[in-house]
Amino acid sequence: MESLKALIRTVPDFPKAGIGFKDITTLIKNGDAFAAAIDEMANQFDPDRVDLIMGIEARGFIFASAMAYKWNKGFIPVRKPGKLPAQTKRLEYDLEYGTDALEIHKDAIQPGQRVLVIDDLLATGGTVAAACQLVEQLGGEVAGVGFLIELTFLNGRAKLEQYKLSSLIEFDSE
Ligand code: AMP
Repeated sequence: MESLKALIRTVPDFPKAGIGFKDITTLIKNGDAFAAAIDEMANQFDPDRVDLIMGIEARGFIFASAMAYKWNKGFIPVRKPGKLPAQTKRLEYDLEYGTDALEIHKDAIQPGQRVLVIDDLLATGGTVAAACQLVEQLGGEVAGVGFLIELTFLNGRAKLEQYKLSSLIEFDSE
């Protein structure tokens, strides 16, 4: 994991002052590293207990769709408002300042389906907690939540205690 961690670029003060942005483009342009990251993210979960893999816009799509292909599972997107064309369910959630929203197609999940929720990075946990709520509102079951990166100093895990959670690479400061 240390070799994968070394391929993540921290861009200071992006998108605003004080944020150290974890840039994964420097990891995924390396084919061996990208494959190792996908294999290791997938190894944290049991494919026999997963029906669908959900990716969170936009960087979550990169990891979730590769995992879905590896396991021969369906991929479902959760997107920012106004992007999905058919009937959607929307959930608003609180940010530090203001609110944001996510949408999912109403027919993306059948009741009882087990959904693995994937994003590139866990920060405060608000985004993935909202995605998990959408899964549950459609009658699905969250099979787990998986990330490449976790910013442990933000303690996003606290919002996700009821789920099996995995992250491969931790940063304990900006
Ligand atoms: P949060 O809801 O706070 O857990 O934020 C998670 C979302 O914001 C993820 O989709 C990340 O891609 C993005 N994000 C938050 N903080 C960072 C960061 N420091 N570097 C890169 N992406 C981030």
